[in-house]
Amino acid sequence: MRLLLLIAAIVGVFLIVRTLLRSPGRKPPEKPGRLKQQGVVVRCAHCGVHVPQFEAYRSGKRMYCSRDHALADDSDRTS
Ligand SMILES: [Zn+2]
Repeated sequence: MRLLLLIAAIVGVFLIVRTLLRSPGRKPPEKPGRLKQQGVVVRCAHCGVHVPQFEAYRSGKRMYCSRDHALADDSDRTS
C-alpha cells in the first residue's frame, strides 16, 4: 500500500512539473502556423486591398476583397 502511495505521489509531481514547463512555451508557436495557413494573397481589383485568396471574391479574371467591390466594379464596367 505504501508503494502505491509513493507511485501516485511521483506521478502527481511529474504531471504538475510537466504542466508548469509546458504552459509558458505553448503560445509562441501558434503565430507562425497561422501565417503559413494564410497562403496566397491576392489584390482587390477595386480598392487595392490585399486579401487571402480563400477569402477573395472572383468575378471573371478579377479578384475582390468583398462581394460589394465585385458588384461595384461590375457596374463600373457596364455603365
Ligand atoms: Zn476592395
